Amino acid sequence: MIPSLRQFDAAQPDRPRRLAVLGSTGSVGTQTLGIVRLFSDRLKIQALAAGSNWELLAEQARAFQPEVVCIADEARYTSLKDALAGTPTRVVSGMEGLCEIASAADVDVVVAAIVGAAGLRSTLAAVEAGKMVALANKETLVLAGALVERFVREHGAMLIPVDSEHSAIFQCLVGEDAEAVESITLTASGGPFRNRPSDTFGAITKAEALNHPNWSMGPKITIDSATLMNKGLEVIEARWLFSLAPDRINVVVHPQSILHSFVTFVDGSVKAQLGVPDMKVPIQYALTFPYRWSAPHERIDWTVLGSLDFEEPDFERFPCLQLAFEALQQGGTAPAVLNAANEAAVELFLAERIRFTDIPRLIERALSQILNEGGDDLESLLAADQAARNTVREHANVLVS
Ligand code: NAD
Ligand code: MG
Repeated sequence: MIPSLRQFDAAQPDRPRRLAVLGSTGSVGTQTLGIVRLFSDRLKIQALAAGSNWELLAEQARAFQPEVVCIADEARYTSLKDALAGTPTRVVSGMEGLCEIASAADVDVVVAAIVGAAGLRSTLAAVEAGKMVALANKETLVLAGALVERFVREHGAMLIPVDSEHSAIFQCLVGEDAEAVESITLTASGGPFRNRPSDTFGAITKAEALNHPNWSMGPKITIDSATLMNKGLEVIEARWLFSLAPDRINVVVHPQSILHSFVTFVDGSVKAQLGVPDMKVPIQYALTFPYRWSAPHERIDWTVLGSLDFEEPDFERFPCLQLAFEALQQGGTAPAVLNAANEAAVELFLAERIRFTDIPRLIERALSQILNEGGDDLESLLAADQAARNTVREHANVLVS
């Protein structure tokens, strides 16, 4: 997919873009609101949604005065409603509320920043409503990439990546022809354990895994970055975002996280996008595309930057990356199983119920145990997702008993 400059508010340049932020209390969500604060005359918060953090959601609602807010966790509805009593903001809840917000007629851009498969239905609702979707929720594309790609085409929606690597590729593709692209290469920081001996991986603690060298992110993606599953999920995300065959997507480790990814063209030319590791930049680009708005984000200081290093990823020490490539090759429900097994395993690791090295083992088991059937429709994908979560939890019980 080459970025298309159609369907932007060129016709209405004087009206602010109206945003719905799904996952507004998270790392991407709060940084999105930071961008809106910078451009309060050009961006307007129409709707906000979160999982269970009703206190922060109420605070955000008072600050941005959206038309509507949604709390996904129904048990927190009354607390949120009471907290916003007397304000003009309407309060809704549950999956129905999320989908209502994602497809509302008065929303121009939906920021999909819910973590995990929990973001699938609302992202699909936004796509089916033909929205511009600023997509952070990569798990949706891993779980149901083919389906999302088809819906995007059928409903005239547009996905604009928020993930820094995909934003980089997207920016490099502006003005290019699809046939001119030979391959894309996603850069990976290598995470906190790039140089750690693999025979000590079993002793990795939750605190060590949550300590990412370059990026400050939510807990799930931080663990994914430590196992390198994040890069695996991003390869699958790129496959669907850019309609590229898997053998044209490469990964290279680049510990400084300055060069965010690059495109190699058929004439041997390479275009890369660079910047300091700061999610505010790709988030802003997704909100302002196809324009660039002046902002005070940190610039690269070339005089102190030093060298930029690149190396091969180590598939043996980081089996999650290999598992992701294999699941993508297999297709069908394999990526859905990979994603759900990973979510369940990461949850168990964060609860300190399994070891770091159990994460790839549990995912591998789910991939080998669950029959790869279907994958063309939501039902079979969701069934595979559920089966993978069950398999991981059952096997984790065996591990700890
Ligand atoms: P986070 O954990 O900080 O925030 C997650 C958000 O999702 C919160 O607002 C939470 O309330 C909401 N949420 C969780 N479960 C929910 C549910 N069942 N229903 C509705 N809402 C729910 O996560 P994050 O780091 O902001 O990541 C969000 C997404 O963006 C992920 O898919 C991640 O892979 C992607 N991403 C994040 C970064 C980053 O820098 N944080 C970078 C690239 C991509
Ligand atoms: Mg990324």
